[in-house]
Amino acid sequence: MLSFLSGATRADAMREIDSSVGEPSALDAYRNGAIGGAEFAEPFVALAYLVAGVFFILALRGLSSPATSRTGNRFGMIGMLIAVVTTLVTHDIANIAEILIAIAIGGVIGLVIARRIAMTSMPELVAAFHSLVGLAAVLVGWAAYLNPGAFGLLVGDSIGAVSKVEMGLGIAIGAITFSGSVIAFAKLSGRMSGSPILLPARHVINLGTLAAIIVLTALFAMAGPSETMPLIIALTVLAFLIGFLLIIPIGGADMPVVVSMLNSYSGWAAAAMGFTLGNTAMIITGALVGSSGAILSYIMCRAMNRSFISVIAGGFGADDSGAGGGEAKEQRPYKQGSAADAAFMLEQAEKVIIIPGYGMAVAQAQHALREMADMLEEKGVEVKYAIHPVAGRMPGHMNVLLAEAQVPYENVFELEDINSEFAQADVAFIIGANDVVNPAAKTDKSSPIYGMPVFDVDKAKQVFFIKRSMGGVGYAGVDNDVFYMDQTMMLLSDAKKMVEEIVKALD
Ligand code: NDP
Repeated sequence: MLSFLSGATRADAMREIDSSVGEPSALDAYRNGAIGGAEFAEPFVALAYLVAGVFFILALRGLSSPATSRTGNRFGMIGMLIAVVTTLVTHDIANIAEILIAIAIGGVIGLVIARRIAMTSMPELVAAFHSLVGLAAVLVGWAAYLNPGAFGLLVGDSIGAVSKVEMGLGIAIGAITFSGSVIAFAKLSGRMSGSPILLPARHVINLGTLAAIIVLTALFAMAGPSETMPLIIALTVLAFLIGFLLIIPIGGADMPVVVSMLNSYSGWAAAAMGFTLGNTAMIITGALVGSSGAILSYIMCRAMNRSFISVIAGGFGADDSGAGGGEAKEQRPYKQGSAADAAFMLEQAEKVIIIPGYGMAVAQAQHALREMADMLEEKGVEVKYAIHPVAGRMPGHMNVLLAEAQVPYENVFELEDINSEFAQADVAFIIGANDVVNPAAKTDKSSPIYGMPVFDVDKAKQVFFIKRSMGGVGYAGVDNDVFYMDQTMMLLSDAKKMVEEIVKALD
């Protein structure tokens, strides 16, 4: 029954034994020495990997909503435990102690990083982790190339052509993921300027390099044993190079798509590795990560009104002055208010829409914000939260923070569901958001965020805008006309401090 899952290496002897009634069972065959331990275990391995795969699918299902995301995470952990234990107990492992030590060291490092990392630094951490997946794929590909016998890849005395294609793809995707993720990490963590670096004729260079990688993979697959080494070296070097070239021209506002795209690449790298290792669980997991990352990239492109192809081709926002980079701006008049002013007007309002952004995450103002919303609701004010798909620094960033502060899910709305309500809102309360409310995205063709749908906060009767100073800019590094609108009152302070003061004033 499970033969369709067990892969090409399953012994014919065992298939016959399984299907013939009254004849010796697989257990008998194993006891008699007719089949080895690995062959005897194969159907169980396939079943365990299938179960792990089902857990991964349940994990993705759970992660699709903040309400079920913790359960989803647990399903993912169970699936991974099943896959790792199955792999360890069913393979001839020369030195299990070494592997357990490596797992323990990796586990401790992961635990420490996970506990210490600030939510605002998550995207760069994710980029750093993706680089490790990419590097692992390259190393597995090279290990398989250098010692094909250990991986069961020998056909006669050379590596089979299909295995070489899998190996070439695994190394290429892994190397692209590695160097791309390293650049994304450097840009997101501020170690490298977020501004696009535009090489002349970059599209021709990129397409040429990609074509060369494909040709080299084909030549590598067809080459005789003595000719493969220069080809696989050239393939690896070019793949590292293209990962670098693909990410350096992507600037500021398009980084969210890059993070999810690299997530997708890391999945495909793992799937390719799964083929090389003949491991069904890795193929399933890699394909799930690869396709979900690709779907997320597509959704984010749609949310930002970007074409996926132009983002991955790089250089979008080429006129950008640089992500996160401040620039000298002309002084324009604006109104500044205090917490007491804001509290007074919020109490009078019938409908308040809160727009959280990256600054709320930096200030960790979500708990104070929830308290403020609760107090307003007690006073009969209708309070809703408006979440932009790219608010913060990672997909779902605001949802996670609001869920942490136990904001009811039914009060949280996506951009397209709430944007029409600003016209009826008395107050738009912007807390640490900037790019996602910038009208330049609708009006200024030269703006790096042009085309991204933004909240129509200008339609609300009153706008409160919390940020620390007039000098600070959003991620895309551009000025925002909302600061200077007649109905806008700037609340210049750390977001948590300001909201706590408003809460005091409401009391
Ligand atoms: P922005 O980055 O546009 O703006 C953040 C605002 O928060 C700034 O105005 C800043 O001003 C303010 N701020 C920072 N710290 C504090 C603080 N402690 N208290 C109060 N205010 C503070 O944020 P948005 O959420 O509006 O937009 C997200 C941007 O990030 C988009 O451009 C998006 O493309 C990009 N991005 C999104 C990713 C994602 O996956 N969601 C990933 C990578 C990038 P000041 O310094 O004056 O306080």
